[in-house]
Amino acid sequence: MITPRARAQASGNTCGRADRPASWRPIEARHVPELLTDGARALCYGAKADAKKARQAKAVRKAGAPRASGKDRVLMEQADRQPRVAVIGAGMAGLAAARRLRQAGVACTVFEKSRGVSGRMATRRADGSTFDHGAQYFTVRGPRFAALVRELEAAGAVAQWFEGGFVGQPTMSAVGKALAGSTPVVTERRVTGLNRHPSGWSLRFDSGPSQRPGGDSFDAVVLAVPAPQAGDLLQGAGIGVAGLSEVTYAPCWALMLAFDEPPDLGADRLTCDDGPIAWVAREASKPGRRPDAGTCIVHAAPDWSRVHLEWRAEAVAEALHAAFSARFGVSRQPRFIAAHRWRHARVERPFGAPCHWDRAAGIGLCGDWCIGARVEAAFDSGEAVATALIGSMAPG
Ligand SMILES: Cc1cc2nc3c(=O)[nH]c(=O)nc-3n(C[C@H](O)[C@H](O)[C@H](O)COP(=O)(O)OP(=O)(O)OC[C@H]3O[C@@H](n4cnc5c(N)ncnc54)[C@H](O)[C@@H]3O)c2cc1C
Repeated sequence: MITPRARAQASGNTCGRADRPASWRPIEARHVPELLTDGARALCYGAKADAKKARQAKAVRKAGAPRASGKDRVLMEQADRQPRVAVIGAGMAGLAAARRLRQAGVACTVFEKSRGVSGRMATRRADGSTFDHGAQYFTVRGPRFAALVRELEAAGAVAQWFEGGFVGQPTMSAVGKALAGSTPVVTERRVTGLNRHPSGWSLRFDSGPSQRPGGDSFDAVVLAVPAPQAGDLLQGAGIGVAGLSEVTYAPCWALMLAFDEPPDLGADRLTCDDGPIAWVAREASKPGRRPDAGTCIVHAAPDWSRVHLEWRAEAVAEALHAAFSARFGVSRQPRFIAAHRWRHARVERPFGAPCHWDRAAGIGLCGDWCIGARVEAAFDSGEAVATALIGSMAPG
């Protein structure tokens, strides 16, 4: 794999500290801040469109500008290193993007608001049990996702639940954990805003300003969050993306039940076409789970979830449990019961393109919402935005 740095070296354009030409002089960023960043970035990336600025930057460099200090040095240091990307969201899409970027030698940090990775491929731990209360299983269509699933299977993080249906092992969130690998992921960091600087982007967090960990400034930002949340962040940064607000989702209330003895549902997984319930699964029937676990997942139908979206979780748990008991004739009381609201569960109307990449702004968008309501769609979208970003760094 050719890294941007290796590519830059091969073409004679290098921003790497170790490979700095002997004649190198710091650029006086105070005088030409825009020139410094764009020009230096063009030198790094070898991008055709920025060739003029690159030549100008080179001229400034040759002229031997005086040494800068303070803020200027920060700007210079940012130009004097390999490109850095911030990925917001550690679901399948964000992790797939980060993986692809890192494979291409691009440094990136993932920021995730939750305590763990994997997004809607989620697992809740409660009452000594585990519940996969988000995505239930995934299918495989394309060769790239098939290759990943084979890799994760070999690593023991994925197993087949039924013919063509795969799950994470021992829990669904194992998929995200395995995919994250050694990628730097900063959890419990909700990104609340994007700040644009001449030198790139910095992030604002609900837990304070954009400082360590993860550094201060990024050359590009990839938003791998649900479409409405991406829209909010973009709006705050003064960027509009046509079609983004037209993406729609179906919500889903998920019910988690744990019984002392597994209830007999007549099958390990069931879809229901009428009433409040759309899906029921016996967790213990999934590979790698405790076979005696009396845990069940119940998903409410989209219409029911929509009507009851603002109900309290306790009231929803009670209503869905009553529907479950009536439907399956289970009169025993569960040992544990809880409901979880997914506001943006499954994409109904997708964006209609694999991803969005705005080269001029250095902003990428990805997620299942670009393509459709499937784990594989999130993976494909993450890979697509990373490929677009890497492509825009290639020599023109
Ligand atoms: C109930 C349910 C059932 C499903 N069933 C299936 C199924 O059976 N098969 C299937 O293929 N798919 C299923 N899906 C869909 C599947 O889970 C998704 O398509 C896929 O996981 C989406 O991945 P993603 O990375 O695009 O988004 P997400 O997984 O939503 O990842 C986005 C991440 O961004 C984080 N985030 C959001 N905002 C911020 C912020 N401001 N700062 C930092 N982090 C932020 C979130 O916490 C999240 O981790 C189901 C989903 C749900 C909810």
